[in-house]
Amino acid sequence: MLAKTGGLYRVSCGGNVLEATLRGRFRQRGRDRVLVGDRVILGQHPDGGATIEEVATRSSVLKRCKPGRHKGVRQVAANIDQVIVVGAACAPDWNNHLMDRFIAVAAANGLSVTVVINKCDLCDTADDLALPYRSAGYPVVLTSIPNAQELTELGSRLEGRVSLLTGPSGVGKSSLLNALQPGLRLRTSEVGEKSGGGRHTTVAAEMYPFGAKGFVVDTPGLSDIGLWGLDPREVAGAFPDLGRFASECRFDDCRHLEEPNCAVIAAVGSGQLAASRLESYRHLLEEAIEAARPWQ
Ligand code: GDP
Ligand code: ZN
Repeated sequence: MLAKTGGLYRVSCGGNVLEATLRGRFRQRGRDRVLVGDRVILGQHPDGGATIEEVATRSSVLKRCKPGRHKGVRQVAANIDQVIVVGAACAPDWNNHLMDRFIAVAAANGLSVTVVINKCDLCDTADDLALPYRSAGYPVVLTSIPNAQELTELGSRLEGRVSLLTGPSGVGKSSLLNALQPGLRLRTSEVGEKSGGGRHTTVAAEMYPFGAKGFVVDTPGLSDIGLWGLDPREVAGAFPDLGRFASECRFDDCRHLEEPNCAVIAAVGSGQLAASRLESYRHLLEEAIEAARPWQ
């Protein structure tokens, strides 16, 4: 299922896109009964239109935690295979904290992450920037739009999979997708013209066919990463590189803040772990604790 507008669901079917409605018994269920990315079984309504009869078991569900007073979890998209977190080597400057946030949210959702460093034509810092992420075990792909051959690796990573591209704005996400697949018209450029309801109506995810068998999911909601509350208990798990050292910490529940004999802090001291990764972790942990506080 590619996108939902009102009661209509756009479904990709053998290379075509058709519109379907929900079969009656689905309407009774909860709010998130059919998600963008769901694989569905179609049937035919007596009047000839297509209906969604069945939803296949999901391999993953991307969730958004709503912090604050109206806490809760909203399911955003299903069956995403990977999250591509895009940053720019410069223009705008690389922002460790922002990048680590996007990566942590994806990791907390149990999704595999690839880091892309774009605009490599503008400066030669990309290899240094890549280092902490490569050590953390994330694949890092360097790209630049002017050098078409540098796009092939990213292109082959997108092929045949369902990918979500995210990252700070202005780093070249739309440019990358357009360069890889001219004609892909991402909805982000048109501001809710049909709905007329302003920006909040575009928070829903939308999926686009990409290449022969791939799909790209566009979630404007994820670009506003502030909305993506992480449970404080999830934060450490979203930093696998810290986790490698954490088992050596003196305390089992060490939060790597000021505890004595913290192996993570020691790893930064000995150069085995980038200081920026520990800083990002602490920053996110603070934010998560703050967001988890009951509203007063
Ligand atoms: P988005 O907000 O992440 O989708 O970023 P855009 O795709 O809109 O790109 C922002 C600006 O950066 C545009 O002016 C692009 O032309 C430019 N840009 C994107 N990728 C590259 C690149 O690899 N090299 C250079 N020099 N400019 C780029
Ligand atoms: Zn520790």
